[in-house]
Amino acid sequence: GSELERALDLITEIPDFPEPGVLFRDLSPLFGDPTAFAHVIEALGEMIGDGVDRLAAVEARGFVLAAALGYARGLGVALVRKPGKLPSVAGRVDYELEYGTASLELPVGSVDGGERVAIVDDVLATGGTVAATAELLRSAGAEVTGVAVVLELAELRGRSRLGSLPVHALRTV
Ligand code: 5GP
Repeated sequence: GSELERALDLITEIPDFPEPGVLFRDLSPLFGDPTAFAHVIEALGEMIGDGVDRLAAVEARGFVLAAALGYARGLGVALVRKPGKLPSVAGRVDYELEYGTASLELPVGSVDGGERVAIVDDVLATGGTVAATAELLRSAGAEVTGVAVVLELAELRGRSRLGSLPVHALRTV
């Protein structure tokens, strides 16, 4: 509804961050407004639907969204980390960035085999982060049911990297 649109309108655009030519979307004002944040969490919950056993999210803003949504829905969260943070790693995926590579790690014991897991994040850009997260979860025996993001940057074609995985975005620009 229009309350959600008002919440999403709080997202600002920062030119030339983190490097020249990139238009960065800053969700900080949305996280800072309790009414807006509540509407966003409610809408993400509607998008992931029923039949989900667990959420998964990548640090750092993904954790904030998934923690609130998991609390609201009574779902645990698998906390996917950047490398070097975890004492025991169930799996690691290395993936390509525009410049260089990145890695993500899944903590031991964070998903059970056969669980239906939905991935939550703030922004879907190239889709590399979500694709790597889905690969980690599947390697651990989980079934990935879909992806819910606040903002999708359509021109970066993230969906095309995600195969048949359903992607739900509160706003696509
Ligand atoms: P991707 O892997 O899809 O290219 O990038 C997505 C990841 O980078 C997300 O976890 C997201 O937090 C971050 N990201 C990429 N572009 C933006 C942006 O414009 N704004 C914000 N807030 N995060 C971004």
